[in-house]
Amino acid sequence: MPEGHTIHRAARDHRKVLAGQVLGVSSPQGRFAEGAKRIDGLLCTGVEAYGKHLIYHFEQGLSLHIHLGLFGKLRKSKLPLSEPKGAVRVRLVGPGHVIDINGPNTCEVLDEPELLTLTARIGPDVLRADADRDRAYHRISKSKAPIGRLIMDQSVMAGIGNIYRTEILWRLAIHPFTPGRELNRGDFDRLWEDAVALLEIGVWRNSIITTELVPKGRGRLTERVNIFGKKVCPKCKGNVECREIANRKVYLCEACQPAV
Ligand SMILES: [Zn+2]
Repeated sequence: MPEGHTIHRAARDHRKVLAGQVLGVSSPQGRFAEGAKRIDGLLCTGVEAYGKHLIYHFEQGLSLHIHLGLFGKLRKSKLPLSEPKGAVRVRLVGPGHVIDINGPNTCEVLDEPELLTLTARIGPDVLRADADRDRAYHRISKSKAPIGRLIMDQSVMAGIGNIYRTEILWRLAIHPFTPGRELNRGDFDRLWEDAVALLEIGVWRNSIITTELVPKGRGRLTERVNIFGKKVCPKCKGNVECREIANRKVYLCEACQPAV
């Protein structure tokens, strides 16, 4: 499952080559033929990300909504067109580039009211300048659910995936099973700001990096994450535990992240 930074990175890349251009839209695999027909030959007015949702805006108030889910893939290549690789659900062709999207969980054309309905159910996205973090705090401060579940719930706050979840909570010394309502506003603000900082690095480096950026040797990082998938805590050298929240692995150090 791509984390939020991957989708923002794609939106930025695709915006550069598609925005302001008339696009040829098709469904080589056929499953999206009807939808493709509605936006084929229209001007693409922008590309943006809301959490893990990718939105291609078109004239006439239409947009293409993509959610990759677990198995979806995006591929950007230069013209000339090549044969579609695998089951390409939708192909977007601009003057210089082609974007192929395979296996998305969601692929649909939305009108303006439908887009508004969608964006209203997505939580504030840590990577968006217009994100309303108070909305996320409001939900978290009223919930008994563990913070490790809440920050990955895309309707509460959008963008954080499984690896970032573990890493951010460790960096802030917050136990993942702490009920949301036990966090005070200061804790929440630190969590939000750490998420923004790390995901921005993710977009910029196109990679998840949660350790301090200390290059060694020829600028290569020795470690990219602190405790995700690891056995020893780099801070206290104690054991890292692996548990599950929302059916996904979460790692924690009981010494550095004491339970409340
Ligand atoms: Zn530790």
